Amino acid sequence: MNPNQVLGEENPFEAMQARFDLAAAKLGLDPGLYQILRRPDRELLVSIPVLMDDGSIHVFDGYRVQHSMARGPAKGGIRFDPNVTLDEVRALAAWMTWKCAVVNVPFGGGKGGVVCDPGKLSIGELERLTRRYVANILDILGPDRDVPAPDMGTNGQVMAWIMDTYSMHVRSACTSVVTGKPVGLGGSLGRIEATGRGLQICAREALQVLGMRPDECTAAVQGSGNVGQVTATFLAKMGVKVTAISDITGALINEDGLPIDDVCKHLQRFRTLEGYDGGDRITNKELLELPVDILVPAATENVITSRNAKDVRAKLLVEGANGPVTAGADKILDEKGVFVVPDILANAGGVSVSYFEWVQDRVGMFWPEHEVVSRLETMMVKAFADVVDMAKRFEVSNRIAAYMLGVDRVADITRMRGVYA
Ligand code: GLU
Repeated sequence: MNPNQVLGEENPFEAMQARFDLAAAKLGLDPGLYQILRRPDRELLVSIPVLMDDGSIHVFDGYRVQHSMARGPAKGGIRFDPNVTLDEVRALAAWMTWKCAVVNVPFGGGKGGVVCDPGKLSIGELERLTRRYVANILDILGPDRDVPAPDMGTNGQVMAWIMDTYSMHVRSACTSVVTGKPVGLGGSLGRIEATGRGLQICAREALQVLGMRPDECTAAVQGSGNVGQVTATFLAKMGVKVTAISDITGALINEDGLPIDDVCKHLQRFRTLEGYDGGDRITNKELLELPVDILVPAATENVITSRNAKDVRAKLLVEGANGPVTAGADKILDEKGVFVVPDILANAGGVSVSYFEWVQDRVGMFWPEHEVVSRLETMMVKAFADVVDMAKRFEVSNRIAAYMLGVDRVADITRMRGVYA
């Protein structure tokens, strides 16, 4: 077992299974399908030897988990993170399955991880690590098999190396094997903004359900990676006053509203909020407890747990990260009447535009940005309405409704295909 393995409430795979069980029970899922869908289809564990700049060899651990390929190729990001564990990758892969089904794109779910600290690797080491990882999982990759994308610690450059390494092995330029690539290399316009744009669309739809006006709302965003920055920017554009944002060094707060464009410029230049003088500093924990209308946890897993859920004061929680709320916290938030837009719906804008990128690469024809944006809008609005409908119909939380929607769609296809037993 990985020494980093977390047990109990903060084990993401157990968190996924806890919600899956509730959704399966509500759906009255057939026991055979229950067994099939509760666990990953395939897991690949690889050792990745990398030539370091000092001439030594370091062997890194890597994973690729394919949770389901029932609806199409496995789809999901690759995470480079020192704390990534197999159970985390398993959970993230399953979440991708449900997420793709919730927005109804023809993909299954997968996820990859490499235990490494990308901030401590040179660019050369990062490239060699990426290429060797791809070479080691090559047998299960492919545009019709498994299509990676960016996640924590990876970006467009890493995707470009993945595309190139795969292409070298199959002896032809294959852009559709990975999404989130630079636009010049078969990437899609609007992919970088897609997750944040999807979050803003969900926030807008949720405010409408709640009868609240964006220009009378305040928001706090935890995390200032791509998702945090873009979400804060789009929320501000919609008229919401974003009063707090954070990174690993802590949070920045200004009750009059932060000048988000300016904060983003600082972040892009210095890669940290430190040194920005347009607000006061508070902790990440304090940010989660602010009396704002909208809270967007867009950093990492397990930030709202059974210990601090009672302190959340926001009326609307829009989950930018995957798994920011533990299963133990769900009940507490429910009882408090917080309107939760769960991760597998809220952050599905990213994989939706990944799907558009894959389609464009396969057809070899590229769309203008307005087409990407308008298709994403339609997809997110429909998924949001489907989840809220399901929640009403079955009198369950939005999270369980999203799981029910996702699980039901995957179960349906599995039934149609039949079990090759
Ligand atoms: N890593 C992102 C996610 O968790 C995007 C995955 C993708 O585009 O395939 O949704």
